[in-house]
Amino acid sequence: MAKLKLMILGKDDDVLRAHCRPVDQITDRIIRLLDDMTETMRANNGCGLAANQVGVLRRVVVIEVEEGNVIELINPKIVAMAGEQHESEGCLSLPGRWGITTRPKSVTVRALNRKGEEFEITGQDLLARAFCHELDHLDGKMFSDNAEMIDPDKESRGGN
Ligand code: ZN
Repeated sequence: MAKLKLMILGKDDDVLRAHCRPVDQITDRIIRLLDDMTETMRANNGCGLAANQVGVLRRVVVIEVEEGNVIELINPKIVAMAGEQHESEGCLSLPGRWGITTRPKSVTVRALNRKGEEFEITGQDLLARAFCHELDHLDGKMFSDNAEMIDPDKESRGGN
């Protein structure tokens, strides 16, 4: 496995704002990409990563909101959502910035696993947010586009 370079908003907008292409064949390159993305996410203490965040314009996502339980999504689609939540969110491609987003409370995603098998997974709360956040990346969207951003100066002063 190898740690990949993270794309940063304001510097790498060409890839972060790109619409990623579906994976049509799960090759060794895609398997390696999944492994490298997991290593990169963990090395940066992230709980999710989309392929364009490491410069690859493919619909591939890894998520780890529960330590040791990596969810790999190839060509993911949201097939159901319910409820609403307002929580703070950050992004490895926007270091040091946080904002409050409105997301569904429960989200069901359909995707392929690394063997090419279709599966569905439902997440609540943090996992539901991670699904929305990472799938948005694949369409060139950043959480900060629709968030109430928290002033970083206030944050660093420890104020409210
Ligand atoms: Zn992100």
